Amino acid sequence: MKPTFQKTLRSEIACTGTGLHSGAHVTMTIRPAEPDTGIVFRRTDIAGKGAELAARWDNVVDTVMGTTIGNADKVRVATIEHLMAALYGCEIDNAIIEVTGPEVPAMDGSAAPFVFLIECAGIQQQDAPRMAIEILKPVLVKDGERSAALMPAPVFSIECEIDFDRAAISRQSCRFHLSNGTFKSDICRARTFGFEEEVSQLRAAGLARGGSLKNAIVVSCDGDKVLNEEGLRYEDEFVRHKALDCIGDLYLAGTPIRGLYRGLYSGHTLNNQLLHKLFKERDAFRRVPAEEAVHVDETWEPPHLNAMEA
Ligand SMILES: [Zn+2]
Repeated sequence: MKPTFQKTLRSEIACTGTGLHSGAHVTMTIRPAEPDTGIVFRRTDIAGKGAELAARWDNVVDTVMGTTIGNADKVRVATIEHLMAALYGCEIDNAIIEVTGPEVPAMDGSAAPFVFLIECAGIQQQDAPRMAIEILKPVLVKDGERSAALMPAPVFSIECEIDFDRAAISRQSCRFHLSNGTFKSDICRARTFGFEEEVSQLRAAGLARGGSLKNAIVVSCDGDKVLNEEGLRYEDEFVRHKALDCIGDLYLAGTPIRGLYRGLYSGHTLNNQLLHKLFKERDAFRRVPAEEAVHVDETWEPPHLNAMEA
């Protein structure tokens, strides 16, 4: 198989928008970076060295309404997961992300605007090998009936299931093999979602200040209507967004993962716990050179979670 190389952006590119939770008006600039830099956030509104934060699983400080990274100086950048998913989808290994405030702009609530930005800037191959994390044995975290797991598989694959007591969502599941442009075609346009009655509760708690029908799907109080005039972008947009979140959260591993992720009613908290557990279990993975996306045999069946737990 052909080895692959690290990539960065060909040139810098910027956008401006509102933070979903803070409501802050933020300008974000994505800059090219040297090989082995990884993805690093920089708060340009805060002076000093403490303003730089590596996008890594062990810098995650909050997972309640999104994934937030932070450091000992209490410098934080919130809601990084959709941008991280776009960086994964565009195979960007190295970039400096400058933000003028505490949160990544929400844009339209999906990863598509970030993919568009990265593609406008162009993608540059670098003279350094790309590495991946190969899953060698199952790793599982649970919280009641919620669970998240990684298990061996030929490519990075995602399986998610959600179940909401709302007719507009109810039970949805999806499975994607992340190769051959799947992220761009099937996942990146899926928007985040919330509930009509939650919006006022979140606002009272100082969250979702920037939230609106422009950057989220909003489901009606009675649960059976999508309030956005334009409707849904995919019939099962809710679970596809869940997959998008998982991809962004898992890219905090620092390199792509070769393995199957399976989430049952999972979220940012379990995703981060899963990476903590993975990196504690030294025999559950190994670092290998990343290979060009292999064609996935669609008949390949992942193992059952129950068999794994036995
Ligand atoms: Zn999300």
